[in-house]
Formats: sequence, C-alpha cells, structure tokens
Amino acid sequence: MSETILEIDDLSTQFFTSEGKVNAVHGFDLELERGEVFGIVGESGSGKSVTALSLMDLVESPGRITSGSVGYRNPSFAENMRTSYPDAVDGDLVDLRAIPEDARRSLRGTAFSMIFQDPESSFNPSLTVGEQIAEAVEVQQRATAMPRSGRAKTRGPEYSLGSYLMSMALPSKRYVTESSRARAIELLETVGIPDPAQRADEYPHEYSGGMLQRAMIAQALASEPDVLIADEPTTALDVTIQAQILDLLNELQAETGMTILLITHNLGVVARMCDRVGVMYAGEIVERGTLEDVFDDTVHPYTKGLLGSVPDLEGTADRLQAISGNVPSLLDHEMGDRCYFADRCPKAMDTCLEKPRSFDVDADGRHSVTCYLAEENYDPDRALEEGRFASEGAVSDVGGDSQ
Ligand code: SF4
Repeated sequence: MSETILEIDDLSTQFFTSEGKVNAVHGFDLELERGEVFGIVGESGSGKSVTALSLMDLVESPGRITSGSVGYRNPSFAENMRTSYPDAVDGDLVDLRAIPEDARRSLRGTAFSMIFQDPESSFNPSLTVGEQIAEAVEVQQRATAMPRSGRAKTRGPEYSLGSYLMSMALPSKRYVTESSRARAIELLETVGIPDPAQRADEYPHEYSGGMLQRAMIAQALASEPDVLIADEPTTALDVTIQAQILDLLNELQAETGMTILLITHNLGVVARMCDRVGVMYAGEIVERGTLEDVFDDTVHPYTKGLLGSVPDLEGTADRLQAISGNVPSLLDHEMGDRCYFADRCPKAMDTCLEKPRSFDVDADGRHSVTCYLAEENYDPDRALEEGRFASEGAVSDVGGDSQ
C-alpha cells in the first residue's frame, strides 16, 4: 500500500482587504501519496494558486494562512523536530503549521520545489541561467549541511556551512562552486537543453519560452524534491512545446519517484499527466478521485460543466456547453452558508441552500463529492426559482489569474 507524504487538513487562507476578509482557500483537505501525480483543476479565481502558495508558505500580505495543518512525512525531519516541538510530531509526520517559520523555510527549495506560471518573471534577468540553477544546487547542499533540514543526501566538503560563511566573509571567493555549476549543466542536459555548457552561460532573455520553462524545471529538480508543485507549468507555451514539457515532467517523475501536485485549468493536461484529480471551486475541492472516477463517473454539476466545455474532436455537438455566471464572491460576509455553486447550478434544489458536506461516492472513499446529488436524485419540483441569487456579488479578485 502506498504511503502518504502530505496530509493537509482543513487548510484555510484568507486575505484581509479593505472590503473584508476574502476566503481564498477554506477547509482544504488533501492526502498526497508518495510518487503520485495529483492534479488540481478549476477556473481562474477558484483558489488553485493560493493553495499552492499556502503549501509553499509563500502567501504574502494581506494574505495569511488562518487555520489547518500540513503534515509532511519524513522520518529524519520528524526526528530532528521531535525534541524541540513534540506537539508538532506524530510518528514520522510533522505538522508544518506547528513548527517555527525558519524550520519550515529549511524545506522550501529542498523538500518542496515549485515551478511557477511565468518563467520569464521568475528568473533574475541579470544572472546567467546556469548561475541561477547552480545557486539552487547550493541551497540544497546548504540545507543538507544544516541538521534541521532532515535531508539525507551526500555532499562534498565545499558545501559545508563553514564554506558558506567563509564565502560571505570573503566576497572574492565564488560561492557558486565549480561542482554546482557542473551539476547545473547536467540538469540542463536532463531537461533537454541542447549544448547545455554553452547555454548555462546565457541570460534568461536569450532563451525561448519553452527553453526557459525547461530551465525552470531544471532549477526545481536541483533540490531533488520530495514534492514538486507545478503551477500552470505550460500556460505560456504553444501546444507543441506544452506537450514536450508535459512529457518531460512525466519522464522525470518516473525516474525520480517524486510526488507532483499539478495546478491547471486545462483538463487535457490533467488527463495526460495525473493519477488523481481534485476539482476546485470557490476555495475548496468539490470532487476528487481517480481520472476514471472524475471523468467517467462524474457527479458534481460543476465538474460536468468543465468537461462539457472541452472541445471533442470526434463529437457531433454544434456548440460547447458554457457554465453560466461567475465564480462567486469569496468575501466572508457574502459567502453565506449554502452550496457555493448554487447560483450557477442547473440542478440546484431547496436542500442546496444549506452547505453540503463531502459525500463518498464509492466504498473506499477515493471518489468523493461535495454535492447532494451524491446521495439523492435531482427533483425538478424542488428546483430553486431562477434569479434566486441575483443580488449576490460576483468574483472577488485576489491576485487575478494567479488564483
Ligand atoms: S449541492 Fe446542489 S447546488 Fe450544489 S452542486 Fe450539488 S446540486 Fe448543485
């Protein structure tokens, strides 16, 4: 039986704006298994990217993680934390929300890596690509030198904490070592950059979009992460390059056995990459399961709407289905206590005025859905009248497309 590497429970992230509290992510639960690829799919404003940033502990003001736990399974890290923070450790699981920020930070860029949506704005334009990847190698090696990190990887003497401190005291000494540069070239080769030794000395503006995305994957791999969070990794690329990048991620995942959390609005990307999928709406996962569960045995009307809006090359339908309306306001005082999809749902009934809990669709609980239709059939006699929610707010924009 596979082992869970991340156990996220009831995670909530709010933004404190002049208009009020915005519930970008609320009550988010997820168990990620070691070595799986889990996709989170949803439209802009559903909270996907804020979820990724919350897991990386990168939420910036006015946002804040307000509740929940993020359990990370790593025996050596748990051992390192056990004495100082016994309440945060349960067996070999460490609740990252219950340890200090500096201890959490030691995992970022080492145990957890992230590929961001836009590689052009993620690389520093004044440093060569090779230097920036080598720097990520150094970060990983530095973390290995620190007892708190829980990383159990080999390192050369030039990566010791002492050498790092020495490099800070003697600026003439290059901190990015020859061996980390050599590793950066190796990584560029791994992700398919031609002539990597020469390309390592080039600046980001000299790379095409596809090459830069490959370089960002190389940078994320530098730390040999347990969990890679890929936030819309192919959004900015044309379709042929998209396919190459997805195939590359697939190959690297198979080689390294890392866990990937893939954030996307593209169901085709999910179908190509993922073992399981969670459909996110208004800050929570409303349907989750294997690809077969969610694509072939769909229950939630929002998931059906998403699937209906995908072009089918063999289909005969004249028009794609659209989901009417917008993602609802996520302002706390406007959300109410009803199904958040009720104002757009073609099957909303009187029961939906009370917020549904998550129902298991199958016996083993792998396919679950936050919708009453998991337990009862649609009854047109109980349908909500049209325009029932007309006076309610629309999308509350927290970070635009980055959500
Ligand atoms: S709970 Fe009701 S309103 Fe919400 S998705 Fe299900 S049927 Fe639609």
